[in-house]
Amino acid sequence: MSTINPFESAMLQLDNAAQYVAMGDTLEILKQPQRILNVTIHVKMDNGKTKIFQGYRVQFNNARGPYKGGIRFHPQVSLDEVKALSFWMAMKCSIADLPLGGGKGGVIVDPKTLSVSELERLSRGYARAIADNIGPTKDVPAPDVNTTGQIMGWMVDEFIKLQPKKLTKKETLKLRSTFTGKLIADGGSEGREEATGLGGLFVLQACLLKMKLSGKLTAAVQGFGNVGYNIAKFLYEQGFTVVAVSDSKGGIYNKEGLNPEAVLASKKKTGSLKASGKEITNAALLELPVDILVPSALESVITKVNASKIKARVILEMANGPIASEADTIVYKKGIVVIPDVLANSGGVSVSAFEWEQNLKGQHWTKKLVNARLKAKMERAVDDIWAMSKKIKTDLRTAAFVVALGRINKAMK
Ligand code: GLU
Repeated sequence: MSTINPFESAMLQLDNAAQYVAMGDTLEILKQPQRILNVTIHVKMDNGKTKIFQGYRVQFNNARGPYKGGIRFHPQVSLDEVKALSFWMAMKCSIADLPLGGGKGGVIVDPKTLSVSELERLSRGYARAIADNIGPTKDVPAPDVNTTGQIMGWMVDEFIKLQPKKLTKKETLKLRSTFTGKLIADGGSEGREEATGLGGLFVLQACLLKMKLSGKLTAAVQGFGNVGYNIAKFLYEQGFTVVAVSDSKGGIYNKEGLNPEAVLASKKKTGSLKASGKEITNAALLELPVDILVPSALESVITKVNASKIKARVILEMANGPIASEADTIVYKKGIVVIPDVLANSGGVSVSAFEWEQNLKGQHWTKKLVNARLKAKMERAVDDIWAMSKKIKTDLRTAAFVVALGRINKAMK
């Protein structure tokens, strides 16, 4: 794990983009979150003892609408990480032109060490701890690293139980909009599970068209969680040769290409990726000579140490913050096109916004409708950012931030 401070990275990105927007006081306001909730969660463990977990919810900016963003369960969660992630959510929601602001939550925990019932008690405890500060018009959390639809279900159930007055059935259903990324049975949206991956595919395809890059392209995907698996699967289905995939334990490589669905089935059976190809480290995967490199795990995996060794032509940032800002210029100077996280992975929060809207309106859209709206949204975002990067002659990340900041600035005036 890198020691780079992600919030410092994020603020460098902000300062860089701010040169192109007349922001006045808004710039200083955007350098700190509006609210930080620092909570302790007491969980009765299966052995009868109580364990205390540390959690955060950072509400960065709500100029364009309620705070929005996921909750991460990970041993390396820190306040600066959650601050950075909440800032990126504000940018992301603005880029996708959603009526939402930016927030993020996290709990310092390795969920793999918990039993299912301990995980449920932790999830419910976290929801109780932040309950006063969330709600459909206040702050709308969602899944992130290691959190699932099931976890959102426990949280929303706990939140609804805490309401002081008795709610009608209709009011209860509407209040489920407080969390997104839920299972369909709990009011989730069709297509939310794979939305980040599918959105990433739409963004990539739109960018490749602008770059006039086509043919049989190769890809390497780092990370095999919800996002990594789904983007790998969509790339494979669209005819890309996925030569490598990896999880936190390491990766596998096959020059002829891997079928992510078969790799997942084998991982489920054997507990590891190993059986599906030649072993490769995560570090080596990042340096493979592929057309498209897709970091889909945690932040700061590309730093000034390895940036000069990256051989990909395009980096599709499906993780949040995978390129530390110190490495951004190195990668840019090598002529690599970076499709920034705030654009590349904005499909997840876009379908979260659709879920929120459906819950509020008492609707349930078909998958076809959800995916068509997602595609239109992603293509629009690519058009806006591409045009901005041509206009101000910058890389796509700077252009994306300029688009986002322009909209937030307008809302704050
Ligand atoms: N955690 C996801 C992200 O980083 C999704 C957030 C959401 O759906 O609110 O974009």
